[in-house]
Amino acid sequence: MHFKTRASEKLRDAKLQAALKKLQGNFVRGRAERVREMDNFEAIRDAAAAIRDHALEHLDVYLEEFERNAVERGAVVHWAETPEEVTRIVCEIARRHGVRKAVKSKSMVSEECALNEALEAAGIEVVETDLGEYILQLAREPPSHIVAPVVHKTRDEVSDLFEEKHHRPRKTDIGELTREAREMLRSHFLSAGMGITGANFVVAETGSTLIVTNEGNGRMVTTLPRVHVAITGIEKVVPTLEDVATLMRLLPPHGTGQTISNYISVTTGVKGEGDRDGPEHFHVVLVDAGRTKLIGGDLQPMLRCIRCGACMNHCPVYQSVGGHAYGWVYPGPMGSVLTPIYIGLENALDLPNAATFCNQCGVVCPVKIPLPDLMRKLREQQFERKLKPWTERAGLTLWSWAARHPAIYAMISTIGARALAWIGGKNGLIHRLPFGGGWTDGRDLPAPHGRTFRELHRRATRR
Ligand code: SF4
Repeated sequence: MHFKTRASEKLRDAKLQAALKKLQGNFVRGRAERVREMDNFEAIRDAAAAIRDHALEHLDVYLEEFERNAVERGAVVHWAETPEEVTRIVCEIARRHGVRKAVKSKSMVSEECALNEALEAAGIEVVETDLGEYILQLAREPPSHIVAPVVHKTRDEVSDLFEEKHHRPRKTDIGELTREAREMLRSHFLSAGMGITGANFVVAETGSTLIVTNEGNGRMVTTLPRVHVAITGIEKVVPTLEDVATLMRLLPPHGTGQTISNYISVTTGVKGEGDRDGPEHFHVVLVDAGRTKLIGGDLQPMLRCIRCGACMNHCPVYQSVGGHAYGWVYPGPMGSVLTPIYIGLENALDLPNAATFCNQCGVVCPVKIPLPDLMRKLREQQFERKLKPWTERAGLTLWSWAARHPAIYAMISTIGARALAWIGGKNGLIHRLPFGGGWTDGRDLPAPHGRTFRELHRRATRR
């Protein structure tokens, strides 16, 4: 995880910068409009956070209830502790059913497990069918956003890619490009032996898995192949369908700025007698892969996440560098918390610091996850585990000592404010900051006017 190096590269990438402007449209403006339309937005948000907290506090109970009900309706439930176990289970299911080709709808958990690579190594062809994921599979790139995986690409780049891979005349109209992808994918839906999906939620009372999509590919993946495998994190369980209805008031508005998504597909059990479609075999893989480490600890609120993507859409850092800079499956503020937890804090040192702490993410998160607070807790762990350079630790130790001695803190900040005002000179701009080059590498730092906040406050109070 070399966030700093990658971020600098991404800032210089003009195509990426143009592509990222798309975030402001449907995602940011759309969410704001949908939220304005809801009279009782804060009440729904409170209810959604309470549903997620309740499910997490009784995770064992609801997961077992889900398993009982799913098995009763003909599903097979697998429990996977690690990403390796997930790939082993799915490859084994494919082998047992003689599967040579699998079609997939979008699943971030499968990205966590590098499932495509494992299936391909086992000799199984994998075809991504979500349009964005399909484009990325052709380009051999990872997703850069959890809802809009291909947001980093421009239309021209997709036109070039389709021309090269499909060997058809170049098209530039988005409708025509989509039709072309649909034509390429249709035969795969009909010939695949296995459909693989994620799950936005799993419902304990009915034993169902549920996916929310806009393209309809999810319905083909869950109904056409003989075998359906749903892979999902254990934290996605909710007690009832009524709870899903509450969460769905928030997911589409925060994900894509829609009131409701085009498709909400609830899959319960296998194809019944007289059913025209549906899988003959339905497997659900419940994945831990680091999630239980969070239960009962300071970071548990992160498991409330419903993967809407609003935190990254509103994050000034994500808006500037895109998702690939974060180096793993989950980008943006939620990734800055999840990645260090899932792959180890020592492997993702930059990420808890890849934020301005403006708290836009915390403000927009529909299930009220205090993302900056969680990043701060990870920073504390970095400090306590001595994972940061000694210079940084020494600076923080000094600063915390000064902060506990108000008179000394006031003296240091007075000297600092005067010195910065002097460096800023007549035009009040600092071009190069000694010992703080990172602040001035890309822009001039406005210098303070030479007075500290305390001095200004004292003067204002006297007046
Ligand atoms: S942390 Fe909140 S805003 Fe970000 S993806 Fe999860 S639910 Fe959405």
